[in-house]
Amino acid sequence: MDKELCFMSLGSNLGDREDNLKKAVNLLKDCGRVFDIKCSSLYETEPVGYDDQGYFYNICISFTTDLEPMELLDITQSIEKELRRVKTIRNGPRTIDLDILLFGDRKVRTQRLIIPHERMYERAFVLIPLSELKEVDVKIPEDKSVRKIGKFTF
Ligand code: ADP
Ligand code: MG
Repeated sequence: MDKELCFMSLGSNLGDREDNLKKAVNLLKDCGRVFDIKCSSLYETEPVGYDDQGYFYNICISFTTDLEPMELLDITQSIEKELRRVKTIRNGPRTIDLDILLFGDRKVRTQRLIIPHERMYERAFVLIPLSELKEVDVKIPEDKSVRKIGKFTF
């Protein structure tokens, strides 16, 4: 079966943020259906949408997969559960958030899943790390800080 090239955004602003990101990427790798994972640098970013919370650590990753988009969502949501993401406020603090940005050139529009991710082109914390892995227009309306911390390895 042909594999698709996917891009994902990961963020954490609770607990050991870098370790949460590492655990999430390793859990994704452990599913055995994603290959050739590449990571952006690690960034510290100002929260968007709900200000009364700590800064995030964000990365983007790319990989190839023979999963279907919905199967990938199931896996990312089980990783969020496993890392005990506690959902409280919309856009609020979270141990880990995994968002599927692009899945080959597929368009998906269901209740549970929208690809390309609806807000990816508005978010500096997505576009700046993503631009390390893929050519994208980085035109960002919001003025939130995004600071490169350094190399990310998992
Ligand atoms: P956000 O990432 O926008 O802060 P959440 O992580 O809480 O919000 O996601 C809310 C819902 O978004 C999830 O229940 C999931 O079903 C849905 N969703 C829709 N499209 C996507 C996508 N491309 N990647 C991840 N989740 C998505
Ligand atoms: Mg999400």
